[in-house]
Amino acid sequence: MPELRQKLSPEEKVAGRKFRDEQQAYLDRLNETDPPTYDEGVDTLQRYIRHECAKQGGRKALSMQEVYIFSDDKKFGFIFKEGKCRCGETARTATGRFVIASERPPLEGRVARR
Ligand SMILES: [Zn+2]
Repeated sequence: MPELRQKLSPEEKVAGRKFRDEQQAYLDRLNETDPPTYDEGVDTLQRYIRHECAKQGGRKALSMQEVYIFSDDKKFGFIFKEGKCRCGETARTATGRFVIASERPPLEGRVARR
């Protein structure tokens, strides 16, 4: 988290890293137990991916929905994305993005909590 070094106290940095690691572990487990069918890789900044669609025919867009997880104190957020097409194709980011919630609140879609 190099971009956060100046903004967080030492205690906040420790808490932030712990939160990030816990959420990434959750995402890793999710991708292991419910692996996406799309395997070309997708990152948190992508709004959609293109896939060979068995239902619509040809290369079609599959929109990615943001999943935003707040830390208990609402100070931090962890963002990943997932999407599902009618043809059954599913996609999910392998690596989530850690943010300071006041700087990058949820934009759209659902907010996930654990
Ligand atoms: Zn499809």
